[in-house]
Amino acid sequence: MPAAAYYDGRTARRHEVQISVEGGALLVLGDGIQRREPLSAVRVSERLGQAPRLLSFSDGAHCEVRDHAALEAALAAAGHRQGLVERLQRSWRAAALAVLLCAGAAFIAYRWGIPLAAQLIAARLPPAVSRQLSDSTLQALDKIWLEPTKLDAQRRAALSRGFARLHPPAEGGASASIEFRSSPKLGPNAFALPDGRVVLLDQLVTLAANDDEIYGVLAHELGHVHYHHGMRMLLQGSAVALLLTAWVGDVSTLLATLPAGLLQAHYSRDFEAQADDYAAATLLANGIPPSRLADLLQRLVAQRDSGNKDRGKDKDGNKDGDGEMRSYLSSHPATSERILRLRQADRLLPPPQGLSPGR
Ligand SMILES: [Zn+2]
Repeated sequence: MPAAAYYDGRTARRHEVQISVEGGALLVLGDGIQRREPLSAVRVSERLGQAPRLLSFSDGAHCEVRDHAALEAALAAAGHRQGLVERLQRSWRAAALAVLLCAGAAFIAYRWGIPLAAQLIAARLPPAVSRQLSDSTLQALDKIWLEPTKLDAQRRAALSRGFARLHPPAEGGASASIEFRSSPKLGPNAFALPDGRVVLLDQLVTLAANDDEIYGVLAHELGHVHYHHGMRMLLQGSAVALLLTAWVGDVSTLLATLPAGLLQAHYSRDFEAQADDYAAATLLANGIPPSRLADLLQRLVAQRDSGNKDRGKDKDGNKDGDGEMRSYLSSHPATSERILRLRQADRLLPPPQGLSPGR
């Protein structure tokens, strides 16, 4: 016989009553109240912690019951079933399962949802946005990492012309232009801006044995542009950062890290393979063996390895040169696998028909 407070739904007056369940009906008795309602017409609120439970009647009246145990005993005796939510709340197994499901949903969103959203958004961003982002990224890089190129105008013009003359492998290939820079800090390197410009460093030009090798790297970077890899990485990285920022509430630091994010982007194996395939297709479409790119990659690896050896003997602890080499290779992992694939792509080259020697 749980005690309850009864409100008639018209006045604020509280009636101290006793409730009981009899023959499928709820009885409310006391303080001038005498009421009998079929249980099926009474809405019983779910149990939520220690909050009083409400028994609501169709005419707007209700009872508040604080004695949960007595109410449940009375209801159970009458065959009333707990609501699904309540039963789930009170089962630790269900609670643990709910936690697991939430964690699983968060993981799926992180692992697949964000990348998918990034892919869809990156492919649809208006050119003005990627142009602006590219400008601000290049400005930031110019301040910290890059110096003006030391290549003479003639050499630059020749490379730009050669690069622009490359046929894209398919319709809608990324349009190509080169931003020449030098960077002793970054060493032999090249990277694409989201709008399709490729930053080419003097150090890479110096390392290359021929221009085809340079075009190979540039074509690889165009592959990243074609598939919007840079933009996707940026969006993916900033999606997480944005969530954290919303948590912490500081947007300025996020905006400041965006350009650095592009430079340090570690493309996934899939992105690299895609960019390599694009490069190989570009080179093949222009009669250049894809192994030219492999040659350059191999030289990068050799330089890095000899740099590591030298560093062991270096008494001055001078790390210049080695750290630079690592940056291109670390942003382009699994190099030996890539070299092999590119060399195999040479077989797709049409048989030479009076091609100029030297290619
Ligand atoms: Zn790459």
